[in-house]
Order: sequence, then structure tokens, then C-alpha cells
Amino acid sequence: MSFIVGKNLEKRYDKTTVFKNINFNIKKGEFVTLLGPSGCGKSTLLRCIAGLNEINNGDIYIEGENVTDKSAKDRGIGMVFQNYALFPNMTVFENIAFGLEMKKLKKGYIEKKVDEMLKLVHLEEKRDFYPAQLSGGQKQRVAIARSLATEPKILLLDEPLSALDAKVRKSLREQLKEIQKETNVTTIFVTHDQEEALTISDRVFIMDKGNIVQVGTPEEIYTNP
Ligand code: ADP
Ligand code: ADP
Repeated sequence: MSFIVGKNLEKRYDKTTVFKNINFNIKKGEFVTLLGPSGCGKSTLLRCIAGLNEINNGDIYIEGENVTDKSAKDRGIGMVFQNYALFPNMTVFENIAFGLEMKKLKKGYIEKKVDEMLKLVHLEEKRDFYPAQLSGGQKQRVAIARSLATEPKILLLDEPLSALDAKVRKSLREQLKEIQKETNVTTIFVTHDQEEALTISDRVFIMDKGNIVQVGTPEEIYTNP
């Protein structure tokens, strides 16, 4: 059974149609990448799946449940954007703990969970640092840890590596793949970087001008471009 289903999705801004008749299925634990040039609708599709943007037509199902009318908060989704939206006046620990505090979970549980997340992203030694004291790659690892702390069903990543220099990007890409394997969280990753898409994903959805024009494993896309 598919874990995430998009059926006939359509999104318009005034007169501009960003996409229509978008259909896809994503399996539990899968790492899917939306790959395509800037402006083709990747971010918009991701935001619609998250419930941050409303769709004009179609339905989105998560674990068989129609979530089209559900708020972002009720979809069980964690999201990381290109520009690490960390709270500058909170430490790494406090940033990761934030979502857990909002849920009013017990202090002992929060401590344990944050430490587990710090270990997952290899930032144990930065626990009491502030975002300004971290590199770009470290900030993104904190953002990933913060998203995963609340155990979302789905992790959505919108060009999370794009603001980083090439070397950091490559190392973080590998870490991200490891983190996804370890947690098995169903992941949708957005990028315009083909190499990134082909090295990190179980399957790639290639988008062009608001359409998903090809779907395949990296091997299938390599051999049949
Ligand atoms: P991508 O993520 O592939 O770069 P986007 O989803 O950001 O593409 O944008 C797809 C199209 O939708 C673009 O033409 C963009 O200008 C348009 N668009 C995105 N957001 C808005 C908005 N809030 N209002 C109007 N048009 C938008
Ligand atoms: P991306 O990195 O996804 O291509 P953009 O720079 O296209 O991002 O868009 C940044 C923000 O501006 C997004 O929130 C998007 O929704 C909004 N946006 C993009 N295009 C338009 C547009 N034509 N009109 C209004 N808002 C837009």
C-alpha cells in the first residue's frame, strides 16, 4: 500500500497554473526526490503535500487517510528549508527541544530525545552552542534533528543543501542518506541538482513545467535518460 498518494493535484496562483493532473505514489520508508529546473513547481508541490499551501483540485492521502482538508500541523510532517530557520536566541538543545516542548512532553523524555537526535546528526559537542556559532552544514543538521525529534511520519526537505558549499553539501548529502536509513522516515527531497538526486534517492520524480515527466530509480534514470 502506498504511504503518500497524490491524485489529480492542481495548483493555481490567480491565472498561473503551477501544475495540474499531478499523480504519484510513495511507499513507506521511501526516499523520493523531486528533480527539475527552477520554477517548475517543486517547492509548490512540496508545500501542498505539507499543507502549507492549499491545492485547488485533487486529493492527498497519507496512510490511506484523505488529508486534503487537514492543517499542516495535523499531517504529521516535518519540514526543512534551504535557509535554516533556527531560533537564533536558543541553543542547539533548545532548538531541537522546541517541538517537544510545544507538545508538553515530560522533561526527562525531552532530554533523552534531544540527546538521541544530537547523536543521530553527530552534534553532541554543540549541544549548548547558539546557531551563530555553527557552520552552515551544522545548522542544517540541527534543523534536520529538530524536524525528526517529534517523530514525523514524513520528512520534507526543500533544497536543504543548496546554500552550502560543494564539499559540505556532498558530506551532508551522505549523512542525510544515513539518517534516513537509520530512522526509515518516508522522505521527499527537492533539488535542481541531478547528481544529488541520483545519489541520494530510492526513486526520482523528474519535473518539468508543472508535470512529473519521468519516474524511476536512479539506475533506471541513468540507463534511460
Ligand atoms: P521550484 O520549486 O521548482 O523552483 P516553485 O514551486 O517555487 O518552483 O514555483 C513554481 C511556479 O509558481 C513559478 O512560476 C513561481 O513563480 C510560481 N509561484 C510560486 N509561488 C508563488 C506565489 N506565492 N504566488 C504566485 N506565483 C508563485
Ligand atoms: P525557490 O527557491 O523555490 O525557487 P523562489 O525564489 O522562487 O523559491 O520563491 C521564494 C518565495 O517567493 C516562495 O515563498 C514563493 O512561494 C514565492 N514566489 C515565487 N514566485 C512568486 C511569484 N511569481 N509571485 C509571488 N510569490 C512568488
